[in-house]
Amino acid sequence: MAETVCKTLRQYSRGAIPEEDIKKLEEIAKDYCRVKNYVYQRYGGVGSLSILYPGYTVQNQMTQSGLRERLGLPSVYFYCAVFDALGDIRAFWTRMKAGIQEAAAKNPGFTPEELHYLRFALKVNNCFSAILNHTEPELSGGIEEKYRKLTQEVDAHRLDGYVRRQARKRQKRLKTDRAEGFSLTERAYRYGDHGIYIATKEKRKRVYIPLTDGNSYKRQLYVRLNKPEGRVEILAPADVRIKSHEDYRNETGLSMGMRVMLTTDGGKTYGEKLGELSVQDAEWIRERTKSYRKNRKDNPGRKKYQEQKRRREERLHAYINEELNRFLREEKPQTVYLPKLQANGKAGKVKKYNYYAAMWQKGYIRKRLEIKCREHSVEMVEVFGKDISAECSRCGALGKKEDGKFYCPACGREEEEKTNAAQNAKKRGRAVRGDLWEPNQSS
Ligand SMILES: [Zn+2]
Repeated sequence: MAETVCKTLRQYSRGAIPEEDIKKLEEIAKDYCRVKNYVYQRYGGVGSLSILYPGYTVQNQMTQSGLRERLGLPSVYFYCAVFDALGDIRAFWTRMKAGIQEAAAKNPGFTPEELHYLRFALKVNNCFSAILNHTEPELSGGIEEKYRKLTQEVDAHRLDGYVRRQARKRQKRLKTDRAEGFSLTERAYRYGDHGIYIATKEKRKRVYIPLTDGNSYKRQLYVRLNKPEGRVEILAPADVRIKSHEDYRNETGLSMGMRVMLTTDGGKTYGEKLGELSVQDAEWIRERTKSYRKNRKDNPGRKKYQEQKRRREERLHAYINEELNRFLREEKPQTVYLPKLQANGKAGKVKKYNYYAAMWQKGYIRKRLEIKCREHSVEMVEVFGKDISAECSRCGALGKKEDGKFYCPACGREEEEKTNAAQNAKKRGRAVRGDLWEPNQSS
C-alpha cells in the first residue's frame, strides 16, 4: 500500500447565497450543535467509558432517544453529529490518559513496577474504565493474566486512587456553542451544475450552492457557514499519496525572512513579495482599526472587516503555498536544512517597516513547508539557530551585517546576509548528521 498523508481540500461558494438558503443551512447547523451537546452530556462521563468503542451502543441508544424526531433532523446529519461528538469524547479521554501518564512519569515517587502498572491501566481501556468506576475490569486471555501479575507486584489500590485523583483533576464538561457548520455524508449531497446540492430539513428540498471550482468529492464533507457575507466553505479531508521524486537529489540550506520568505544557500529567493503583501495588510488593518475606533457602534462594519481580513489572509496563504511549491519544483531537494525557530528574543529589528503580518505567518510557513516536504518525501532537518546569521559560512568567524550584506573581517568574505545564513544552515545540518558541528563558544 502506498503511504499517504491526510490533507484538507477547500471549496468556496461563488457569489452571495440567498438569505433563505443560508437560513436553511443554519437550521441544520444549530440542530447539529444540539445533538453534539446532547451526546457530550450523556456520554461524556466516566460511566460511558466502556461503550465509547466501537460506538454501536451509543448509536442505538441515540436512535431510541427520539431526539432526531423531535428536531426533525434528517438522519444523515443526525448520525454525523453523533459520531462527531463521540470522536471529541474519545479524543478528550485520550488526552487525559496521556496527561496522567506524563504526570506519573515525572513523579519521582513511583517505582518502575508501579509505572509499569500505571501504563497498563491507562492503555487498556477496560481497565481504565473499571478504575474510574470502582469496578473489576473485564479482561480476558493474556491481558487478564498480565493484569493479575502486575497487581501482585504493586499496591494496586493506592495506584488506582492516584489514577482517579488525576482524572478528577482533568475532568471537564464538553460543550459547544459554535453552530458554524456541520458534517455530511455522501447521501446528503450531490455535485452538479458547477456547484453542490445539499439536503435540508425539508424533504426533497436541496439547497444549491454555486462553487468557484469544478471539483467533486465522494466522502464525508464539512460545510462551514461564514455568516457576514453569506458565504460557504466546504472542507474535504483527502488522503493524498506521498510522491517521491527520483530527481530530487539536492541538499538545500534555507533562511527564512520577513521580507523575502525563503533564501537558499545558492542565493535563490522564493516568496519575494511576502514583505510587500504583509506591509499592505498591516497598513490596511491599521487604517481600519482607526476608523473603527472613531465609530465603535458600527457593528455590521466590524463584521465586514473580519470578513475582509480573512480574505486577505487567504490571499496571503495562497501566495505562500504557491511559492513553497515553486521552491520544491525548482530546487528539487532531497534534504532541506532550516534553522529552528528562535524564542522571541532579538528578532526586534522591525524599525522602518511594519512586518507584523509576516511575523504572524512565520508559524504558518513552517508548518506548510513541513507538510509539503512530507508529501514529496523530502527530508526536513531543523538545525540549531543561534548566531546562524552572524557567523561567516566560510570560516565561522563572527562578521558584520549591513544593508542586507554580510562581511567577514577574518577572511574577507562578502555575501548576501540571508544567503550566508542559509549556507550556515546547510553546514550545520550536514555536520549534525555527522556529529561534527558544535555551537560556537565565541559569543
Ligand atoms: Zn570568514
